[in-house]
Amino acid sequence: MTRIRTLLIANRGEIACRIIRTAREMGIRTVAVFSDADAEALFVAQADRAVRLPGVAPAQTYLRGDLIIEAALRTGADAVHPGYGFLSENADFAQAVGDAGLVFVGPTPDAIRAMGSKIRAKEMMAASGVPVLRGATVTGESTEAELIAGVADIGYPLLVKASAGGGGRGMRIVTEPSGLAESVASARREAGSAFGDDAVFVEKYITAPRHVEVQIFGDTHGTVVHLFERECSIQRRYQKVIEEAPSPVVSPALREELGAAAVAAGTALGYVGAGTVEFILDPSGAFHFLEVNTRLQVEHPVTELITGLDLVRLQLLVAEGEPLPPEALDATITGHAVEVRLYAEDPAAGFLPTSGRLREFELPSSVRTDTGFASGDTVSIHYDPMLAKVIAHAPTRTEAALVLAGALREARLHGVRTNRDLLAGILTEPEFLAARIDTAYLERHTVDDLSASPSGEELRRAVAAAALALRARQRAGATVQPAVSAGWRNVVSAPALVALAGEDGRAIDVRYRIDARHTELTVDGAALGEQLVFAVAEAGPDVHRVTLEIDGLREEFRVVFTDETVDGRRAEVVTIDVDGPFGGTEFTVVDLLPPPGSLAAAGSLTAPMPGSVVRVLVDVGAAVVAGQPIVVLEAMKMEHAVKSPQDGVVESVLVAVGEQVDIGQALAVVTGDEPAGD
Ligand code: ADP
Repeated sequence: MTRIRTLLIANRGEIACRIIRTAREMGIRTVAVFSDADAEALFVAQADRAVRLPGVAPAQTYLRGDLIIEAALRTGADAVHPGYGFLSENADFAQAVGDAGLVFVGPTPDAIRAMGSKIRAKEMMAASGVPVLRGATVTGESTEAELIAGVADIGYPLLVKASAGGGGRGMRIVTEPSGLAESVASARREAGSAFGDDAVFVEKYITAPRHVEVQIFGDTHGTVVHLFERECSIQRRYQKVIEEAPSPVVSPALREELGAAAVAAGTALGYVGAGTVEFILDPSGAFHFLEVNTRLQVEHPVTELITGLDLVRLQLLVAEGEPLPPEALDATITGHAVEVRLYAEDPAAGFLPTSGRLREFELPSSVRTDTGFASGDTVSIHYDPMLAKVIAHAPTRTEAALVLAGALREARLHGVRTNRDLLAGILTEPEFLAARIDTAYLERHTVDDLSASPSGEELRRAVAAAALALRARQRAGATVQPAVSAGWRNVVSAPALVALAGEDGRAIDVRYRIDARHTELTVDGAALGEQLVFAVAEAGPDVHRVTLEIDGLREEFRVVFTDETVDGRRAEVVTIDVDGPFGGTEFTVVDLLPPPGSLAAAGSLTAPMPGSVVRVLVDVGAAVVAGQPIVVLEAMKMEHAVKSPQDGVVESVLVAVGEQVDIGQALAVVTGDEPAGD
């Protein structure tokens, strides 16, 4: 038995934070390793000590087993927890950790090696009586005819898979013999470059199966147990998006069978620590072995919530040589847990990863959030774009799903685009709620249909809240901010106007007239109800709470301003984050500050964007009325008329047709608040 006093975590992000949490609860000191890109990351701050791995790329940092072992020895660690991904399923690393006299928190190098090859894993499982899909190995030397003959008794469609595969890469569906040779060749190429091993095999492709996996745990005393199943059928490109436990379609009898098969697999391997035996469940209800993941799984929290166990604690106990404790041997299921993977990505743009500063990142306490990020952190482009796992636990599946959807709506997530609306949309979609899910679910449903994005009416109310908070902010700042933007001239004869840009960049025009007796507010020309009452309260620096009551419907919004000076531009862009009952959205407003040094004269009309002058519509001395176009700019192939904010006289025109203007540059000066007389 080795007491672990100091644990080095050979990983980053949320899983490093997750492991630190349990280690701390067990009185174990922690050491993080971090790349240059992670120097400011939460997990580094949370660990007791941290060792820099110079560089950014995983190959220079989190995949450098030698440097990680050196860091463990230098800091007096007795054990290394590999997390998931990176070196977690690298048998040579596990071996090297052991050789250095340290405890590897995971199974033996032999078990990792055996399961690292899907071909060998299937052979071993078949030999221990675990059901596997019919398949065949294929080699590079075979001719096309030999390939086709070799798979003849499997039947089409077929799936070509990489033996060393992971993350859904290197897989090809083949529907007829003529496509086989090409798919095998391209799968080999992809597997070779992604995993450094081009061995591939072929197995029966099951159309629209469910992915059901069993959590197993083994100790060094020969005990292997299972901790029930997780359903992970909501996938995109063979990658899990939503996971839950227990599976809504696994009956107690099937649970026994799956559990027994998984324990048989673990026993055959002499399994120690946390492992997952993955199966696919075909539409007839039969299950087939897929692979064993010899590590803690991303989705382990759903198992923790239904069993009340801490799987990281069990891993550490078992690594110390302790037998599995009674609560693990007699685990039971309570309620239902659902987890979503919240990603920094834009589902509407083909799921492109997004990056940037998380201005706000707060999730409600009704759910468990496993994350490596805090408000103000930057999401870099260097690593996996998962922001957090958000997990709900409730007595029933429906309640868990709805609690989770509600938490996602309530979350304050600003600065980086995420898949939150898509996740909330799936969680409330009727087929999902009826548990009619399989791995093709996200092919049957489009992002547009699923996304629970705010409706047009909800957005209009958010726009109004933003404009009212902005008005309050500008009034409060009026004495210290002498440069009142042209767009904000609040004259009696014309409603004040504010031009916001929505998340999609579309300009939104808000006008209001507020006096002692009544409030009128229009968004894009349409009035916001008949009767509008509002209150704006300051809730902190640049944070406003807006209560909006429109025709008797009252809603609360939280509006946060962030000033961002755009490099080299003589203007400030103010970002307005709005959260309300609908979820959240963001606007920007270009604050038309005068160019520094050359203060623009009062009444100046400034360019709201960089562009070129295509028309000047007035002459000096002309009388103009509020809203009259003065200068037309062209930017991004669109014309934009800069209008007079007030009635008056054109005192000067400062630009000519063809001229390039910068944002905030003065274009013309209109003086006189008096209506131009007849
Ligand atoms: P990886 O290691 O790349 O994650 P897996 O073998 O775990 O690969 O499979 C990932 C996913 O691919 C499964 O969850 C399932 O959706 C799909 N899949 C794998 N094998 C099959 C198969 N034979 N038929 C249908 N789908 C499959």
